Amino acid sequence: MPRFAPVRLLVLALALSSAYCAPALASGSVVLASRTTPRPASPAVVKIGGVSYTDARAWFARLGYKSAFDPDKHVLTLTSAAGRIVLEGESREAELHGLRIFLGEPALWRKDVFYVASIDLDRFISPILRPGQLAARPLRTIVIDPGHGGQDTGTQNKAGKLDEKTFTLDVAKKLQRLLAASDPSWRVLLTRSDDRFIALPERAEMANRAGADLFISIHFNAVANNPSVRGTETYVLTPRNQRSTSSAARSPEDKIDNPGNRHDPWSAVLGAHMHRQLLGKLRTEDRGYKRARFAVLRLVDCPAVLVEAGYLSNDAEARKIASDSYRGDIAEAVAAGVQAYAASLSSARK
Ligand SMILES: [Zn+2]
Repeated sequence: MPRFAPVRLLVLALALSSAYCAPALASGSVVLASRTTPRPASPAVVKIGGVSYTDARAWFARLGYKSAFDPDKHVLTLTSAAGRIVLEGESREAELHGLRIFLGEPALWRKDVFYVASIDLDRFISPILRPGQLAARPLRTIVIDPGHGGQDTGTQNKAGKLDEKTFTLDVAKKLQRLLAASDPSWRVLLTRSDDRFIALPERAEMANRAGADLFISIHFNAVANNPSVRGTETYVLTPRNQRSTSSAARSPEDKIDNPGNRHDPWSAVLGAHMHRQLLGKLRTEDRGYKRARFAVLRLVDCPAVLVEAGYLSNDAEARKIASDSYRGDIAEAVAAGVQAYAASLSSARK
């Protein structure tokens, strides 16, 4: 019965895919339905080097993305009405709807299948693309954390005699005013409102004691020996069992389940909104949406983001940061990020 051969092949394919836990596709009725209404296959999951990886083309197809693979560059381009995603084999760097993002594991191209680490899909990309799938959570108390203070000046621009601690406090105060005005139901607190030193764990404890629903740490960057580096970075906490963006090697701390990791999905949404608003408003270089285990991100018990708005070690960027109106722009961008996050929260399932 040669004319039924395609059906038998389909059944075989579904039987194989059901080995990768696809209960919805294992029943006979779905097999028949799929002859007339093709639906994307369940994405295969495999272990590579001890890391769980998912077939990215199949995974993104379920979200309506069409894929194109460039075998010479090992680049997978995914497009949908929502935007374009570009992934590169052997690289943690990717592009997501115009943002430069960093995954926890490199994407991989193996035997005609393009893989992305399952943790990257589940705890980072999926929340960003589908915040409506997450469980709703409140937004009442927002804690803004101006980086550094007191004897801790933070980064500096030596030529201009500029200290990070001064500018983080000013941006935080501007942001507090903007957020308080934009929604009277929000309680907006600062970890410090003057030039004083507060240890990092204490900042997180203050937020937790206040019952923070959202934590925003404000910083300015610097790099030694390369004054040309400039631009904006946004950080959220590295998910458990992944490496931070700056870590090439694995470390024992990758295995620790930090309090902040309970909020990885919403932090992923928050960071994406924040990075997009900062780049859009400031028109700075996109240094990337990254992950790190900074103490404040590890220890706060709510979605949290750390913003490195610009580089004080770059003279041109330092001059901008030193201007009151530019710091107003930074505060407006962060406030817009909070508002976009609040809109995502209200779209979440109740
Ligand atoms: Zn800092």
